[in-house]
This record gives sequence, structure tokens and C-alpha cells, in this order.
Amino acid sequence: MYDIIIIGAGPAGLTAAIYGQRAGKKTLLIDAKGFGGQILNTPEVENYPGIKKISGFELATSFYEQATEQGAEIIYEEVVSVETCENVKLVVTKNGSYEAKTVILAAGAKNRPLGLPEEERFVGSGVSYCATCDGAFFRGKKVAVIGGGNTALEDAEVLSDLAEEVYLIHRRGTFRGEQTVVKRLLTKDNVEFYLDSVPEAIMGEALVNGLKIRNVKTEEVTTLQVSGVFVAIGQMPANQAFSKVVDLDEKGYIIAGEDCLTKTPGVFACGDCRTKSVRQLATATADGAVAALAAAAHVNGL
Ligand code: NAP
Repeated sequence: MYDIIIIGAGPAGLTAAIYGQRAGKKTLLIDAKGFGGQILNTPEVENYPGIKKISGFELATSFYEQATEQGAEIIYEEVVSVETCENVKLVVTKNGSYEAKTVILAAGAKNRPLGLPEEERFVGSGVSYCATCDGAFFRGKKVAVIGGGNTALEDAEVLSDLAEEVYLIHRRGTFRGEQTVVKRLLTKDNVEFYLDSVPEAIMGEALVNGLKIRNVKTEEVTTLQVSGVFVAIGQMPANQAFSKVVDLDEKGYIIAGEDCLTKTPGVFACGDCRTKSVRQLATATADGAVAALAAAAHVNGL
């Protein structure tokens, strides 16, 4: 029986593990894939207070080491459901089940697809959701990045150092992501912006060889000859496994406030998987601390 089981080993979950262990609670982290979450896809983190610049991988590794050196256990299994029976929480994975006094849901979010018919077929053959992972395959080639948030801007920046040409396609005239990065991109000779534009079709046979885009203001259709299409249009939650113990909003996020409390006593939600207005590394780690201290208080009967 664990005091706290944390589902998801991204920044929120790893921070919760650090705080859980430091509160003297026996803590287990479960993640389907590995530790780090979305920051693994971020080449340079420049907005985490106290650290001017660090790679996402390095920061994730540091969080992980801090959590495990405090004594947190970590296993890599896919959680299929969370159930509650009186005061015991049961976390069921594809490999078995684990009991705890409290559960912290920190499952983050997954990449949102464009929803184009050809998209799924081309995943691994030109369509990617991670520039840091797949960018090197497109060295010297032409690529498109779709999106206007920080991920798209950073992807375009990473790819501009590898690809011959980067086309950044955004559905509006202004970017949601940070102006600092937009300014840096504007200085790059091999980055071209297509604003007010949406993707219409991904083209190719076995591999991607083009992207059709439409300007929503002029209705002009342009076909870009690209080998790679990097989709960076945000995330969507994957919280269905927790639906027995929490309420989800219309977008699928776990309904929980800044106190990280859900409708079930002893079940907490933190980081990108919960309803919130700002999804940042700093807010994810803050949430992890709040959730773990609330879980520790619950275990102590407070
Ligand atoms: P995001 O901020 O939600 O941005 C998604 C972008 O995709 C928006 O520009 C949106 O357009 C566009 N979009 C959404 N659906 C679309 C569709 N169906 N077709 C075309 N475009 C679509 O997502 P994100 O960039 O992945 O970032 C997620 C969170 O992580 C954000 O809070 C971000 O700041 C944070 N993040 C931070 C860093 C960093 O600080 N280093 C790095 C990466 C991400 P609209 O603008 O028109 O809505």
C-alpha cells in the first residue's frame, strides 16, 4: 500500500513525487512511456525561473534524479483505470494493480492531430509531431510547421538549423507564442511565414511530397513542395482512464481548481491534465507541489 500513487512522470508528476517523499510519504510514480513528459520535446527551456537556459531533456533528467534520490519509486506501465473502494484507491495498469491511500493524476496531454484524412497514413513517412525527435531526418529538405504557439515557433527554429527551407503555417495573423522567438525567426533567411493559412491536404505516395494550404482571407490555394509536415497545434488531454473518479470538462480536462482537488476525496489532479488557463512548465511544477502537499495532508487525516 502506497501513500501516494502519481500517474504521469512529467514536470507536474515528478515535482509531486519530490514533495510527496519529502513529506515522508511512500510514493510511486507510474508512466506509460518514460519520465519527462512534454518538455522532452523542447530543445531549450528559457522561461523556467532560476535557470536561464537548459534543454528539456536535461531538466527532465534533473527532476527525475531529484525525485528518485528522495526515494520515489517509478514504473513504466499504462494505467487503464483508477477506482476507489472506501478509503483505498486502486490503480489498474495493463500489467497489474496497485493500491494507495491517495492518487495524483498528472497525465499531461497528447499531441492534437490536424484531422486531415491522409495524416495518420503519413505518420513516420513525413508527418511528425516532434521536431526535436524527427528533425534530423529532414536535413537539407523542405518542411512545413503548422501552428502558432510556442511549440510551433520552437519547432520552426530547430528545423531552420537543419532543413533547407521551413514554411511556418498559422491560421491567424498573429502568433500565440512568445514574441522573442518570432523575432528570432524573422531574422532567418530560410524561414517563410504563411499567416492566415490552414492546411487542406497532405500529398504524396509512400512519402510526403507536398502540402496544400489555403489562405482563409484570400481563399488562395498554394501547394508547398515539402518532405516533412510538423504538426504543432497544441495538445489534448487523455483522461478517459480516470473517468470513474473525476469529472471531465467538455474538452476532456479533469475538473479541478488551483487547489488540485477533484470530486473524489484523496484524488488530486495537477499539471496540464486539469482545467486551467495557463499551461506552462512553471505552473505544472507549482501544481505538483500543491497536489502532493494536499495528498500528504489527506494521508495524515487533516
Ligand atoms: P498552443 O499554445 O495551444 O498553440 C496551439 C496553436 O495551434 C495555436 O496557435 C492555434 O491557433 C493553433 N491551432 C490549434 N488548432 C488548430 C487547428 N485545428 N488547425 C490549425 N491550427 C491550430 O499549443 P503549444 O504551442 O503546443 O503549447 C502548449 C503549451 O505549452 C502552451 O501553454 C505553451 O506556451 C507551452 N509551451 C511552452 C514552451 C516554452 O515556454 N519553452 C514551449 C512549448 C510549449 P490559435 O492561436 O489561432 O488558437
